[in-house]
Amino acid sequence: MKKITLLGSTGSIGQQTLDVISEHPEEFQLVSLSFGGNLELGSKAIKKYKPKFVAVKDKETFSAIQELCKEVEGVTYSYGEEGLIEAAVYHDADLVVNAVIGSVGLVPTLKAIQAGKTIALANKETLVTAGHLVMEEAEKHGVDILPVDSEHSAIFQCLQGENKKEISKLIVTASGGSFRDRSRDELNDVTVKEALHHPNWSMGAKITIDSATMMNKGLEVIEAHWLFGLPYERIEVLLHRQSIIHSMVEYHDRSVMAQLGTPDMRVPIQYAMSYPGRLPLPSASSLQLWEIGELHFEKADFNRYRCLQFAYDSGKIGGTMPTVLNAANEEAVAAFLNGKITFLQIEDWVEKALEQHKAVSRPDLETIHKVDLETRRFVGSLLS
Ligand code: NDP
Ligand code: MG
Repeated sequence: MKKITLLGSTGSIGQQTLDVISEHPEEFQLVSLSFGGNLELGSKAIKKYKPKFVAVKDKETFSAIQELCKEVEGVTYSYGEEGLIEAAVYHDADLVVNAVIGSVGLVPTLKAIQAGKTIALANKETLVTAGHLVMEEAEKHGVDILPVDSEHSAIFQCLQGENKKEISKLIVTASGGSFRDRSRDELNDVTVKEALHHPNWSMGAKITIDSATMMNKGLEVIEAHWLFGLPYERIEVLLHRQSIIHSMVEYHDRSVMAQLGTPDMRVPIQYAMSYPGRLPLPSASSLQLWEIGELHFEKADFNRYRCLQFAYDSGKIGGTMPTVLNAANEEAVAAFLNGKITFLQIEDWVEKALEQHKAVSRPDLETIHKVDLETRRFVGSLLS
């Protein structure tokens, strides 16, 4: 029985993690969870799974959730940044599934690593903003960081039993997002609703917008750099509109390994949770390649998807540059979702934030926080 902490339980990945736990009550027990402000889904999970520890975003939600779940006994509640950290280090858990959105997941991840917890990481912003700190801390404490993101799970699966030194390159596949069939000119006045309609995956709002700008793939390239320790020159992005091949590894004998499956995030979530073993997932659809007929591939166009270029450039510069990339993107996407800027302004804002920053190499946590905050202020000032 693995004891699980789930951070971000009310989100898209969080809910699918709960599905995996429900499918395997003999294997997993949810002991600690966190969510932001979604009282409906939060209370449902507390009543069903009866965790021992619950953290929420603010004091208001903290009072409301205790009232809603007063019949559930033996639960300790907490809130705010401290609460999220307490949930992450909860003493009785073996594995922390980090499914919060944005760089708010960084400190809880570092603390969970220091507490010796295995990490199943969906929260890619954590690795983008401070990959060196997370990986160093994991190494120091002998903790595994297991990927949940489907592309990284695919690569991780292709690496099992192989020698990492024999990799020649990683090929990260990309669906192209909601606007893959539109030219740049056709992106001028797209709406939030259109941007939120992803062709293959049903995900949270922020990552769906990131997919449409391809920033998601850019963040994933940086994530892959940290998880698998390869230089950016050996990480390629390949457009593959059906999302059937989730990513590939080319070895130095030119043999290429791929992981395939129908697009279903429960598969990589469950793999991270059951690793090193595999558990059955009968409710997932079996891949019928004859029904699909053909698989399509295209070269990624860095002029069409400027965020992809920004991500490679920031990653190669390193230091605090990816922190700026991530913070500027989080702010710009939030502004777009709130109807304050246009779709194409997202990349303009990110570009402006990167241009005004002078990277600091090997930043510590304090510097990362400072740069993150300064970037958010800078991006905020573009609005006024
Ligand atoms: P969602 O927006 O659906 O969910 C985010 C979760 O984090 C919710 O539980 C939310 O709580 C909680 N949360 C948000 N802000 C805060 C905060 N300030 N403090 C505490 N908790 C907070 O996101 P997704 O599930 O789509 O994505 C989660 C992570 O997984 C992201 O990093 C994303 O890039 C990555 N990922 C997602 C995939 C997907 O299919 N969705 C695929 C691959 C990676 P509440 O809603 O209650 O406020
Ligand atoms: Mg992904």
